[in-house]
Amino acid sequence: MRDSHHMHQIPESVLSVLSDLTGDSSGAIEESFQQPVGTSVRVNRKKLHGELNLEHVSWCDSGYFLPHRPNFALDPLFHAGAYYVQEASSMFLEEVLKQHIPLNEPLAVLDLCAAPGGKSTHLLSLISDESLLVSNEVIRARANILSENLTKWGYPNQAVISRDPSVIGNSGIHFDLVVVDAPCSGEGLFRRDNEAINHWSEENVQLCSLRQRRILADIWPALKPGGWLIYSTCTFNKLENEENLKWLSEQFDAECLRLQLNDDRILETEEGNYFCYRFLPNRVNSEGFFISIFKKNGERITDTFQQNSSKRNKIDLPPDLLQLNENVTPQKMGDSIRVLPAGWTNFLNQLEKLRPISIGTTVGEWKGKDFRPDQALANSVLISERIAQIELDHDEALDFLSRTELRRSETPGWKLMTFDHVALGFAKSIGNRLNNNFRKEWRLRLDHRQRKGEIFSIHSFFN
Ligand code: SAM
Repeated sequence: MRDSHHMHQIPESVLSVLSDLTGDSSGAIEESFQQPVGTSVRVNRKKLHGELNLEHVSWCDSGYFLPHRPNFALDPLFHAGAYYVQEASSMFLEEVLKQHIPLNEPLAVLDLCAAPGGKSTHLLSLISDESLLVSNEVIRARANILSENLTKWGYPNQAVISRDPSVIGNSGIHFDLVVVDAPCSGEGLFRRDNEAINHWSEENVQLCSLRQRRILADIWPALKPGGWLIYSTCTFNKLENEENLKWLSEQFDAECLRLQLNDDRILETEEGNYFCYRFLPNRVNSEGFFISIFKKNGERITDTFQQNSSKRNKIDLPPDLLQLNENVTPQKMGDSIRVLPAGWTNFLNQLEKLRPISIGTTVGEWKGKDFRPDQALANSVLISERIAQIELDHDEALDFLSRTELRRSETPGWKLMTFDHVALGFAKSIGNRLNNNFRKEWRLRLDHRQRKGEIFSIHSFFN
């Protein structure tokens, strides 16, 4: 028996759209909304190695379903950017990229509606180390969360901005790939989130659709001719999906591309020349998702990236902090040092117009003769293995993340605190204590010692 007390009514028109699309009865579809939704994670392969002993997400190499939803906040590896908790359906972005984007080329990529960073962290794992991702989130508070998640993910080839799409479209900056994961009416969230049902209305669908068109029109000039635009929503209705694609190809010179599917749970629809891919609640154990890809007509100019354009600056950096390679270049700003993606000097100069919140990875800062390593260095995939490390147990790791002072006698100096050999942050050893330098704003606020029974780490799923 289904428990209708806890479930709000799914709007009739939503059920009828789904029923039309699938041919399944609206009763069966309604029933599927009552089922608890699966939990999935995407692993950061630059931090966690080896296969997890879990059900694989068939359209994402690093995606796995968990058997239940744990308290992720109690896993130090979650805070270390070793994996990202993400809806399995959203991970289908991977197939879209692999089938249509030349991923071995240096690409300028824009993730236009990026917070909290699910697609952005995924994009970083998929594009080459030479490529550059610009992640934009118009709402400033959400841009900070985006920054936090990207810093934790640890890739240097990214920048974060917080701009209205029209400002980016008018900036004269051009991208090879633009991802528009648009704000939407959220019908795909009904299964997890009852509140989403309360917020739903026909008027809001109309409003969302118009806003999506505005966003697409505003950003279109920032897409290079021959470049790709990926449009996605987490809603099912045609007004925010097919109707907008139709509108897009009428307004602009673009062609919708088709995908090969390797999983018959994914629903493909073709209307006119639009190929649409949907993840529906009665087919996939995940939230709902819609995605489609366009190619802007014209010849793509690949002038944004310049091989070896950045001079290797002589920078005063303590040895053995970073594993530098030809794709990054260190830069000094006052006493602070950061690494920037190499080959993008001109592009990044242009990006300054959009007043970026951050570019690349902050390594640290000179304080007189002491070099104070930044939190971002601890999280960086470029951190050197030769840094002095202290491996913590689970409780100590959570203490460290809570910024509790650790009493321990170690040789003096900066130490990298690790859990399961994945870096969490820095502490400075003085006498018999370790001064905690985990980033203040990220401090874990959770009395983990009271939650012994919930203690969890993804580590337990490794073979
Ligand atoms: N891509 C994200 C991910 O994978 O984690 C989720 C993005 S969410 C579906 C849509 C985002 O668009 C929200 O963060 C929202 O703040 C932002 N947004 C809202 N209004 C917008 C607008 N007018 N232009 C651009 N983005 C907007």
